[in-house]
Formats: sequence, C-alpha cells, structure tokens
Amino acid sequence: MKHFSLLTSLALLAFTACENPAPVANPQPKNVILMVGDGMGVSQLSSVLYASDQPLALEQFPVVGLSKTSSYSHKITDSAAGAAAFSFGQKTYNKAIGMDKDSLPAETLLETLHAQGWKTGLVATSSITHATPASFFAHVKFRKYEEEIATYLHRSGVDYFVGGGINYFNQRKDSLNYLDSLRAQGYHLVLDALPTAEEWKNEKLGCLIGALEMPPMLSGRGDILGKASIQLLQRIKGEKPFFVMIEGSQIDWGGHENQADYLIAEMLDFNATIAQVLEFAKADGETLVIVTADHETGGFAIGSNEGKYNEIEYQFTTGHHTGAMVPVFAYGPGAEKFSGIYENTEIYHKIKQLIGF
Ligand code: MG
Ligand code: ZN
Repeated sequence: MKHFSLLTSLALLAFTACENPAPVANPQPKNVILMVGDGMGVSQLSSVLYASDQPLALEQFPVVGLSKTSSYSHKITDSAAGAAAFSFGQKTYNKAIGMDKDSLPAETLLETLHAQGWKTGLVATSSITHATPASFFAHVKFRKYEEEIATYLHRSGVDYFVGGGINYFNQRKDSLNYLDSLRAQGYHLVLDALPTAEEWKNEKLGCLIGALEMPPMLSGRGDILGKASIQLLQRIKGEKPFFVMIEGSQIDWGGHENQADYLIAEMLDFNATIAQVLEFAKADGETLVIVTADHETGGFAIGSNEGKYNEIEYQFTTGHHTGAMVPVFAYGPGAEKFSGIYENTEIYHKIKQLIGF
C-alpha cells in the first residue's frame, strides 16, 4: 500500500510538473503593509462586534496567529520594545527606540528596504515621533526624547509620512527648525490638513496634523487615518515595491484612561481603515497585509452587568499594559506563514524570509 501510494504520488507529481511547469509553492509578496493597533487585544477587537453593526474587517483575513509580546527587559512590554520586535526583529529593553538591548542602533526594516530601493511610508494618529512610528526611523535611547527622534526623520528615507507632532519639529528647546530640514531634503510638507491630490504628486511628502498628536476620534478627528492610508497607498504603489506601516495609535490611550468610549471609537476607526486597506490589497493582488498589536492595554474585558448576559458592561483591570498574547492576521501572498503561536520578533523574520533580503 505504501509503495502504491508513493508511486501514485510520483506519477501525479510528474504529471503536475508537465501540466504546470512553474508551480508557485511560496508566493512572494511584492509589497508589505504592517498595521499595528497599539494596545489592541482580542477584547478590543471584539468590541467592534458589540459597539457597531460594522462587520469586523479582519473576518476576511484567512490566517490568524498569536504573538508573545514580552520584551528583553520586562515580562510586559511597552510600545517601543513592542515596535522594535517588528522593525528589527530583536527583543530590546522597554522605552528603546531603534536600539538593541545593549543600546546600540539597530538597522530597521524600513531602513534596509529603503537602501534596497523600496518606497516606504508611515501613518500614525500619534505624533510621528511617538514610540511606534519612531521605532522604524530613529535610534534614540529613550522614547521620551521626541525632539531628538524628530531629528532623524529628514535623513531616514521615509518617502511619505502622515502623523501628528508639529511642535517636535519647530517648537523645540534648541530653537532649531526641523521642518526646514525636511524641506531641504526635498519633502513637500502639509500642516494640519490632508494633502490634496496635487500635493500627493510630490516625490517626498510629509503631513503633520496636530501640535502634539492628532485629535482623538471623540474630539472629531474624522476618517483621517483611513483617508491618509489609502491616499498614501495609491501614491506609493508603482514599479518599485513598498513597505508601509499604519498605526491605530490611540486604541492604547483609551485603554490607559480606562475609557471604553475612547477605546471603542478608536477601534472602530482602525477597523474601518483595515477594511479600506484590505480592499486596496484585494485589488492589487501583490501585497501582503499583516495586522497585529504590540501588546494589550487595560486588561479590557467585555463583561456583563452583574451576570445579565444581554447587558454589555465594558471593564478594565489596569491602567497599564498587560502581558496577554495578541492576535496576528495576515492576508495576501505569504499569509500562511503567520499562523501559529510565536514571539513578536518572528513577525519581522517572517517578512524578511518572504521578501528575501
Ligand atoms: Mg503607538
Ligand atoms: Zn501604552
């Protein structure tokens, strides 16, 4: 029986080989989009199901995994070490921006790909100098040095960026103006508004909305995250491959404040953005989309009002981060690689293997 099936398999293999001379066993993505919901655990995601009649965009992702989020220094990570796992694939100490565990600068995925001719983009609703986006372009010992982080952006090779934090560039203790540095490097800058279609035609574009961060959804931010992401993706798409990181930054802040309304409004916005990015990727066909989180925030739970199971009561167990595993979703060429349970640093290594650098 064993021989028979082996022979059959061989025959089938030979047949398949003749019929289809170039089977693509491991499809390689041309482009990569990494979406990070800061502080987005499974409960945060699930809140979309109860707080709206929007479907969860992530239900359309065929592959789901779980990521273990501890950092080098702590069982519970912060967003800087969490982003380091994605941006250079190493566990580092909490608060490190683009620095390894020995406080030495580590080349990031964005920097490597830029050097190889890829186009790159960053979108966040925090300041662009905040831990998550900063971890892709800066090398600073501590995340709180946002003015120092700002000095890296014009020499980073990010082609397009949208985020908050104007003051870190032009209202600084050293009185220097790093908006001028960006302009000198060829960036067209747009402040406090989304770029027009005409402005998006620039070769390099930076958009900063908000003195420190963008306003929360509850204060009327509107659909800036979705619009900025899609506009950037339409612009960046082309002959060269691209890498784009898009962050729903403020899901985490709703968690820290134990404000379910804040958290859910940010989560709905991120969900709507994922839906739009997924449509882009479906139409494009060559783009791998990974959606994950750096950690969970708030010990958020979808509880009941004293056991009345038809009355949802959102609950928090902490104002800090938690050590729960977070989900990883993947769509597009190479998505299968992201199933299973693994360390957060594997996300970087899986991307690296898939695009082969
Ligand atoms: Mg963040
Ligand atoms: Zn946080």
